[in-house]
Amino acid sequence: MVEVEVTMFKNWLDLIGVIQDSKGDTELAKCPSCDCVGSIDFQYVGSKETRIGYIDVWCTSCYHGIHMSRVKVPDGFEMLPFGCDDATLAARIPNFTRVEPVSLVDK
Ligand SMILES: [Zn+2]
Repeated sequence: MVEVEVTMFKNWLDLIGVIQDSKGDTELAKCPSCDCVGSIDFQYVGSKETRIGYIDVWCTSCYHGIHMSRVKVPDGFEMLPFGCDDATLAARIPNFTRVEPVSLVDK
């Protein structure tokens, strides 16, 4: 986990919207952490019944990313099922460093 400025964290969150709007085409998406273009990848993991789950978004250049839980998996997006084995998850989702907004409370 690494703490980043709130604006950078927001840019990561905005990528989820970009992914949804582009139907998953991240070729033109820019990494908020390292400014690399076309390095963003993502994966939904969730329940096929409710289509509720989480999304991991990461950069294949700097391996920073975010994890957002309790999201709706939009129609047309592939997802891995909840409870699938670690090897399946690891084959798809790299071990990336999660960015978190810098906490303002203890400053
Ligand atoms: Zn990056």
